[in-house]
Amino acid sequence: MMHTQLTLRLLLEQPAELFPYKEIISRTENATFRYTYADFYRRVVRLANVLQDLGVKQGDRVAVLAWNTYRHLELYFAIPCMGATLHMVNFRLFRDQLSYVIRHAGDVLVFVDDSMLPMLEPIAEKLNDVRGFVVMTDGEPVTQTALSPIYDYEQLLAQAPDQFAFPDLSEESAAGICYTSATTGNPKGVVYSHRGLYLHSLNMCIADTLGISERDTVMPVVPMFHANGWGFPYSATWMGATQVMPGPHPSPKDLAQLINDEHVTVAAAVPTVWLDMERVIEQEGGYDLHSLRALVVGGSAAPRGLIQRFQEKYGVPIVHAYGMTETTPLATVSRLKSIHDPLSNEEKYDIRAKQGLLASGLKMRVVRDDGSEVAHNGKEMGELLLQGPWIADSYYNDERTKETFIDGWLHTGDVVTVDEEGYIQLMDRTKDLVKSGGEWISTVELENALMAHPAVAEAAVIAIPHEKWRERPLACVVLKPEYVGKVTKEEMIDFLAPHFAKWWLPDDVLFVDAIPRTSTGKFFKKQLREAYQKGELNPIS
Ligand code: ADP
Repeated sequence: MMHTQLTLRLLLEQPAELFPYKEIISRTENATFRYTYADFYRRVVRLANVLQDLGVKQGDRVAVLAWNTYRHLELYFAIPCMGATLHMVNFRLFRDQLSYVIRHAGDVLVFVDDSMLPMLEPIAEKLNDVRGFVVMTDGEPVTQTALSPIYDYEQLLAQAPDQFAFPDLSEESAAGICYTSATTGNPKGVVYSHRGLYLHSLNMCIADTLGISERDTVMPVVPMFHANGWGFPYSATWMGATQVMPGPHPSPKDLAQLINDEHVTVAAAVPTVWLDMERVIEQEGGYDLHSLRALVVGGSAAPRGLIQRFQEKYGVPIVHAYGMTETTPLATVSRLKSIHDPLSNEEKYDIRAKQGLLASGLKMRVVRDDGSEVAHNGKEMGELLLQGPWIADSYYNDERTKETFIDGWLHTGDVVTVDEEGYIQLMDRTKDLVKSGGEWISTVELENALMAHPAVAEAAVIAIPHEKWRERPLACVVLKPEYVGKVTKEEMIDFLAPHFAKWWLPDDVLFVDAIPRTSTGKFFKKQLREAYQKGELNPIS
């Protein structure tokens, strides 16, 4: 058969030809911007010219710091299709880490939303390889800045030609790079090849994964700096789906409004985003969410209670997916099999709350510390190892490669069980597990159970040191405002008791006013543990 190169160029060109009239909608601070795939394609072509004129060569890295907007989508295609590598920069990183990732990637040019210029100014001196900053505004003049040289995105595009000869690239060439947080030390870079992204995008369109299609209206709420915006910008563009970009600082209310107004069918974010949106919908009412066929939850475990409430109150199916930056990221999706049809709703929720079945095309092993494989009985826990065409094989120029990529397998650092039907359930990250008297306790399981309590807004369970057992679980609980002061610790423990062995139950429950979150919106357990150890966790009564 023909050995055609699997590159992102096809994902750009095919929809422009087949669906030129389809829309891309982007929320700005004060309005909604709309244009068609034909307009989008024209601007990507112009942008490729701009990149070339600014001296970007094949193999160069180009950084982007931006909210999810139509301009960000243009950069997602123009940079890799002209042969450079898109560095999606997490703009919530601390200053030192921000300068580290831009230097480590060797970025030659930075595209930045006007509002983010102040993040770059203090580190500009350290960015030796950067030859210029291209600023994106919504029509306003670029803010005064000490950065130099500065270019205006819209001005450059307006002057650029409408033709560009996209090069024939090797499918192995680097299309993107994304840095993932490390337990200790600086973030680690993961490079995505054109081939990996192509196959990953295709996989997202399979009916039994996420089934992205031309008929969808897709809204990636997950930031586009986070693991390819979980792959939605590439797969949705390829299929010619209508796209909704939530823009700068989207509030839970903005999200509900966009779903309502644009009839979004697929939206994706970490669970905390949907927990926040749920509160707004409950308090304000009046939002129509019926268009949603999949509210995708990933990045952290989808609480079973959240799945159940969205289904029963709003008729919205939550689809639970799992992955990592190193896996592009889609690795598993929790879909029911046909044999599950006769099960009760409760049994179905149990399955849907699992991380799900391995995506077609990937291979896995689940192993104990000694390398032996666990039985697929839903009980034995082991570390998940992955292999496949969209799984990274190294960190970019990083010694830590050898700790994670061993004998051709990615060691995920996630402890899972696998049931008889092949459903993976993530019990914990190895670094978050509670090891009590040599036995493992899953903090994720306890959190899930706590979050099913009607008074609980959020819950995180962490390991705290214990003289006899080495570690014991501590539950940190944020109550919904109307329940503060009305629920006791004992009630929380009693609520958990029927579902767990006695030794799994938390030794204590702390009611706190907030749980710290990471830059990607997950519970920041490391910070919670440190705060506890320093005596800085302030319980509220
Ligand atoms: P970071 O380490 O910065 O959070 P990643 O997004 O790469 O970056 O994190 C991947 C990790 O997130 C996985 O290894 C896993 O521990 C967790 N994770 C992702 N999806 C889920 C999920 N559906 N359920 C539970 N944990 C998840």
